[in-house]
Amino acid sequence: MIVAVAVLATVSSAPAVPQFVVDERVGNPAALTAIAEEQWTAMAELTARVIGAPIPHAPITVHIVPGRELRSSEAGTSRYGRIELRTGASEITTALRHELGHQYLWATCPAALDDRLFHEAFALIVSGELTRWDEADVTTPQAVRVLAEASSLDVPKSRAAIARLIRESLTDSIEIPRTMALRLATCSSNTLWRPLQVNELAPAERAYSDAFVVVNRHSGELVTFDGAVDTAMPFGSVLKPFIVAGAAGAPTLKPVHGDVNWECGDALPSQLTAAQALARSCNGYFLTWGRTTPAAAKFGAYGAMLTALGLPRLPNAMSEAIGITPTLALTPRAVAEAYRALALSSPTTIAALADTARFGTLAGLGLGVEHVVLSARGASDTNGASNVHMARAFKTGTVRNPQSRPLVGWLVQVTPDHVAVSTFAGRQPRDFAVQAAQRLTAIGRRAQERRVGVQVFGLVGASQVTVECRGVAMRGADVVQTQAPVPLSSVLEDSEFICLGAPWLARVGGSAPGSSTVAGAARRSSSFGAENTRDYAGTFARAELPASNASDDTTASPRALRARRGSEVIFTTSLGAYAAGVAHQEGGMLHGATREALVRVIAHNAYEPRHAHRPICDTTHCQVFKGTMHLGDDDARSLTRSIPYRGWLPFALGGDAPWEKAVDVQEITRVLGSNAAQLRLGPDYVTFIRTTDDTADESVRVRCEVIRNALHLLSCPTSVAPGPNTWMFRGKGAGHALGLNLIRAQLSAQSADSLLQSAFGPAPRL
Ligand SMILES: [Zn+2]
Ligand SMILES: [Zn+2]
Repeated sequence: MIVAVAVLATVSSAPAVPQFVVDERVGNPAALTAIAEEQWTAMAELTARVIGAPIPHAPITVHIVPGRELRSSEAGTSRYGRIELRTGASEITTALRHELGHQYLWATCPAALDDRLFHEAFALIVSGELTRWDEADVTTPQAVRVLAEASSLDVPKSRAAIARLIRESLTDSIEIPRTMALRLATCSSNTLWRPLQVNELAPAERAYSDAFVVVNRHSGELVTFDGAVDTAMPFGSVLKPFIVAGAAGAPTLKPVHGDVNWECGDALPSQLTAAQALARSCNGYFLTWGRTTPAAAKFGAYGAMLTALGLPRLPNAMSEAIGITPTLALTPRAVAEAYRALALSSPTTIAALADTARFGTLAGLGLGVEHVVLSARGASDTNGASNVHMARAFKTGTVRNPQSRPLVGWLVQVTPDHVAVSTFAGRQPRDFAVQAAQRLTAIGRRAQERRVGVQVFGLVGASQVTVECRGVAMRGADVVQTQAPVPLSSVLEDSEFICLGAPWLARVGGSAPGSSTVAGAARRSSSFGAENTRDYAGTFARAELPASNASDDTTASPRALRARRGSEVIFTTSLGAYAAGVAHQEGGMLHGATREALVRVIAHNAYEPRHAHRPICDTTHCQVFKGTMHLGDDDARSLTRSIPYRGWLPFALGGDAPWEKAVDVQEITRVLGSNAAQLRLGPDYVTFIRTTDDTADESVRVRCEVIRNALHLLSCPTSVAPGPNTWMFRGKGAGHALGLNLIRAQLSAQSADSLLQSAFGPAPRL
């Protein structure tokens, strides 16, 4: 009763609403007047609630007329006493409410006349537009940047940014950000108006921040990041998978009825396995487990990795490990690195997380269905493009305040190529999971992200190579100390050797100082001596070479045979990092269309079965690779254009520069056999006569490329002059003269597609 009287008193003392004059070309005058009056009353009540009393204003008349000079992005505009609306606009009511927000401030708060940010923020709040903008697309730092650079605040991009900032400071009981409420209170006083600043809406110091970071699983490259990726935050449930994967054996437990921690989603099974507990992120499971096995809270073998990645200490109890007690913190980037190692060492744990979207914490959002990009050449592809059919794995985490309001939400996504970690201040994972998933999907489609394997160091041997990890070196779940360079052969095993947070630094023992060409190595002060150090961003593993099958090619040198045999060292990285590395070696000086053609050929060849069931090698037998490099934007664009050919596509430096080389007769005999004569040189084949032991002559036809390799000639020779002690070979250009001639391409003005067509013939219709 008393309450009702008080409300009546407030309403009766509130200023009258303006008189609204509606042009009927805008819409039904009676209906629009009713909306306007209702909106005005709501705004008066809102300010009364916020500052304790209504703000008085003089009587006014507001004309509502059709907009004549509206920009395409505007649904309405106004000046004092006059609102222009786009006729026929679908959101005319929202536009009217928005413009009434401006009218209300002009009427009640003339001091705020020039405060554009305050005006726009107020109009967005009272019009109900805050939820309209898809604010998950813009992070807090991005919003601050947009507003700092915006020339107008009354455009969609700016409105979305303001909405993003305001939403963070609103709760059920706070209807207007405090900084704005304080100003509203001074509207009718004579205090000097202080214009609202962007950073007042987004305080600089906050424990919980938005972040998005994507790491390539194969190379470890930071694919993209923004926001507070290096800010340590309490991690909620995000580390639960490491408890399961690190344990010797995780139990199957019976849910405890009536225990709030066991309220773990619909249709809870009568027995919960660790995999089911992970998908449902069931606190009850982990707390019950921790009571019988307290040590499980220390992440088992993964404890050392997590502390190496920045966890201040191991948890003292299960409640700390699963984030119910938010005493420990980790950065989003460290969480991404940890999951990269987990995906490699415990695929079954990742597989369990694929159920999160099916019947776990993200069920019902439509996230379970996914098209995994298969290799263009199908599942039989030996150099595994991402052809593992795997549903996306998700892990959610929510850090709550004592009132159970979310302080920050975490979302981890694991795909065949990536680990992505998102944090969102003040939100639960379910609220932003779809947007975060879509953002990763867009990145995941890029060809440069796919896995590529390379047989490396086959010529020199693993014992001649030393490697060093400046991050955290891991094999399986174990941290391996490699602060100093170690011989690769001493650490090479069948399971992958991975360096978290940094590329491997490798040095080939035999290389002379200054001979290394990897750009960027020089700026490092490596214990190796920078000039010899190459980046290998990826993992090393051993794959036993098959028993040497005797080559029928008697002309090949031992070195060439070794190159063709491959290497027991398998290096795995991303296609982008590999292609950039090869392009640097094979055509570092090339640019434009030639570079594009080369990069596309390199990427195509990366998946060709040049070594039967093994990946390609790193020598001239395949394509020269001496370490990964960062893929530039132009090369990334090139990789989006595929190649319509099949099979290995040869390329060589080429050009037309003449050369000559004298070869000893002994060498001729070794390669061609004794008494070789009548050598005839064709563009593809060389024919000659040689005498066999039983004195019969034999005609031999060999690919010119074989002879060129064996005799170390720059290209297939065009002439030969046999002499008593040496044979003089002459030719033009460098390389095997097959396929793409890079120097000639660079001198032409052809597009990349026509260069490829000249080299490999017309594109077959697909
Ligand atoms: Zn506005
Ligand atoms: Zn090869």
